[in-house]
Amino acid sequence: MNSTKTDLKNLTQEGLTAYAESLGQPGFRGKQIMSWLYRPDVVDFSEMTDLAKAFRRVLAENAYISRFDDPILEKASDGCVKFGFRLDDGHIIESVLIPEPDRNTLCISSQVGCAMGCRFCMTGTMGFIRNLMPSEIVNQICAVRDYLLTTERNSPQELIGPNRVTNVVFMGMGEPLNNLQNVLDSISIMTEQKGLDMATRKITVSTCGVVPQMRSVGEHSGVNLAISLHSVNDKVRSELMPVNRKYDVKTLLDTCRHFPMPKRKRIMFEYTLLEGINDSDRDARELAKKLRGIPCKINLLSYNQCAGLPYKSPPKDKILRFQNILINAHYTVFIRNSRGADIAAACGQLSTKAKKKQTQNYQL
Ligand code: SF4
Repeated sequence: MNSTKTDLKNLTQEGLTAYAESLGQPGFRGKQIMSWLYRPDVVDFSEMTDLAKAFRRVLAENAYISRFDDPILEKASDGCVKFGFRLDDGHIIESVLIPEPDRNTLCISSQVGCAMGCRFCMTGTMGFIRNLMPSEIVNQICAVRDYLLTTERNSPQELIGPNRVTNVVFMGMGEPLNNLQNVLDSISIMTEQKGLDMATRKITVSTCGVVPQMRSVGEHSGVNLAISLHSVNDKVRSELMPVNRKYDVKTLLDTCRHFPMPKRKRIMFEYTLLEGINDSDRDARELAKKLRGIPCKINLLSYNQCAGLPYKSPPKDKILRFQNILINAHYTVFIRNSRGADIAAACGQLSTKAKKKQTQNYQL
């Protein structure tokens, strides 16, 4: 890859317009370029047949179209697929495809590693390495889309859901709000009609509570917001999530209370139940009390065991009891089934620190 050239997948629609103009072309050429960049089969400027040949040559001299080739694949018994993508600098990031009959949710990464150090999370044990560029974020979606199309062509019986990525959640490696501008640019590309043409309601950004950036997500993107909450007790939350020492529960929940979003939308609170730590009846009642007045839904997750981390999930009956207390307090509460745990693809299990087991390279 020539580092002096511009990766066009780093540019939003506005960025492509400005880029076309910088090459002496009318701005609308930017729109034409974008309409080619995200087609599954286009890898070269020579295929952009509505651009003049001379301009295609100028583009080839100055720019390139990045893509993720040969991902490392691991398939779980429940149909989830974990993708490992090698970046140009040799780092590996992971994405997880969670297929259901009517949808394909893709959990994507926003950073290599993570600085936030949540105690229950394998990514947190890696430390922070670097932010992902917009192209590295959207290429996770492009590569999984190509995988789905190839699967449909070669072995359609293996497809569980549709042949495209329908939903995207920023719940992979990294804290998205610590890479805000690149995440917002990638969302702009995802939702642009000539880009990946996804609806904002199908995209969710999850944060552990980086309060100053939260408002920007609502104001500049309109996507769904999820909060990794896990406790509303400051002592317990600070122990589990160091970010709470900077932005405590009250500050976080007040920010949620004033989060800019349309009336019909709800904030999703993610609450991983850890046996003996945050799973008591008292914890459930305190949660119900402190979320009062916030338009929200609650996802209860049983903890996915991570090697070397000391936490355990409570038994099923305790999870149901916790849920009932919240339902009786008039909340919408889901118990989220763990998916992909047998390939370490479930929530909090993503990490490329350990030596990678290469199970299968897939030619897209
Ligand atoms: S839970 Fe999210 S924010 Fe916390 S360490 Fe893991 S990746 Fe980072």
